[in-house]
Amino acid sequence: MGTKFRESVVISNTFELPAAGFPVMGPVNDDSDRYWKEALEETRRRSPASFEQWFSSIQFEGLDGVMLSLTARDEWVRDWVVAHFLPDLLANLERLLGDEARGGIQVRWRVQPNIERPVCERRAVPRARITEPPPSARRATDRSSTADRASVSPRAALAAALNPKHTFPNFVVGPSNALAYAAAFASAGGGGPRYNPLFIAGGTGLGKTHLMHAIAHKVLEERPSARVVYVSAERFTNDFIEALQHHKMDEFRARYRVDCDLLLVDDIQFLAGREQTQEEFFHTFNALRDADRPIVVTSDKYPQQLQRMPERLVSRFTSGLVADIQVPQLETRVAIVKKKANLEGIELSDAVAELLAENIQSNIRELEGALIRLAAKSSLTGRPIDEAFTKSELLMVAPRRPEVVSVEDIQRAVCSHFRMTNSELLSKDRHKSVAFARQVAMYLCRQRLKCSFPELGRAFGNRDHTTVMSAVRRVEALRQRDPQVNAHLEAIEQRLAASEE
Ligand code: ADP
Ligand code: MG
Repeated sequence: MGTKFRESVVISNTFELPAAGFPVMGPVNDDSDRYWKEALEETRRRSPASFEQWFSSIQFEGLDGVMLSLTARDEWVRDWVVAHFLPDLLANLERLLGDEARGGIQVRWRVQPNIERPVCERRAVPRARITEPPPSARRATDRSSTADRASVSPRAALAAALNPKHTFPNFVVGPSNALAYAAAFASAGGGGPRYNPLFIAGGTGLGKTHLMHAIAHKVLEERPSARVVYVSAERFTNDFIEALQHHKMDEFRARYRVDCDLLLVDDIQFLAGREQTQEEFFHTFNALRDADRPIVVTSDKYPQQLQRMPERLVSRFTSGLVADIQVPQLETRVAIVKKKANLEGIELSDAVAELLAENIQSNIRELEGALIRLAAKSSLTGRPIDEAFTKSELLMVAPRRPEVVSVEDIQRAVCSHFRMTNSELLSKDRHKSVAFARQVAMYLCRQRLKCSFPELGRAFGNRDHTTVMSAVRRVEALRQRDPQVNAHLEAIEQRLAASEE
């Protein structure tokens, strides 16, 4: 981890203070305090599951101009926060500070075991005991820390993690998701050929998690004694780290490999680049498959497009069935809107259902959000949900803000994606990975901002325009034929889109 830290430092000019501590700082400026809190909130929203776990061991010392001072309980916590939260946090802060932070924000770290004013408290786990589990079953699946698990039965913990509405009967089947639905149903013992593993791939908000919950509901309903483990890959990672930290690997392995009849892992793309967790997951996977216990995994990409995922895991993922979910066609979207309205007790005419489905096309979560908003507004204002009202509401949510991306935004997104500093990106370093990141950044600038080649040359450390030209052409060509390159580009584009929101 020591070396990892060094790698991850890059993004923020992070440096360590000697043990003596921080210089005495002036009184905390109210604005700085507010910026820090806002930036932090944004980060918390993105990773609520693990935020508390890490930030309960971090203390905010102050933000003085562009100098952020933090204390971590130990090096482990510091390294993790630097690698996994800081890029996002600093990007938020830079955005809030605007021009003042043009040159980037510097971070000063101190390590001190005693954290008196943690950034956040760790939430107490509900102590309500549903049933006292026998000692052998004292392993919950999600949400709570190892120490807290003993008081909650695995079944209760699982039930709490599942959305009761995400069942098979509530899932609308259409051509875009029929294969994934049938395969998920079979995994839950519903009949039909069962593939192991089942890998469900599909874009955001298209029903992957819904299907995972549906499998868990069905199995629990029909075989209440079955030990179903449902986790996000993020939770699996955090559990693993916690087990390592507290020397509880035996318990961890028992939970995932032995006391597990069905393993459901959501959003496996989270494991990208996390080599030790990948290794552990690989062995978990093998143990379960050798014992013929079903494994279902979801991902926002096809296995071959997963970034920084070792080949042996990718080949395991493709060894069963890869079922994808595509964006549903209009008819399926209309059916989904109607089903949701019915479940929520919202009265909706066919015309309004169609209007919604026609206007919100690529993400069911957004479609659902629009429906709920409509219903809420209607009950607040007393207006019926008719076509005129729906149209006016759609007008308010539909137009996206124009893109306001700059060369610096693109450089920053590329740097955070490839974990490097801006000065490395602009340097003369010809090392393959640095050069590739630079070419990608040039390509994205050209494509999105339509900058001229000489202009880009200047923005990238005074390079010749022909260098920029060939970089752009190279990435353009690679994008067509190499899914990995395409995946990198998509990830960076997503990052940019997120920072625009
Ligand atoms: P993902 O995990 O793929 O990002 P979710 O499973 O969270 O997406 O789905 C987002 C929302 O859309 C959920 O509320 C889910 O119930 C709903 N949804 C997606 N597809 C369907 C479908 N085919 N039928 C009914 N609801 C759906
Ligand atoms: Mg999901």
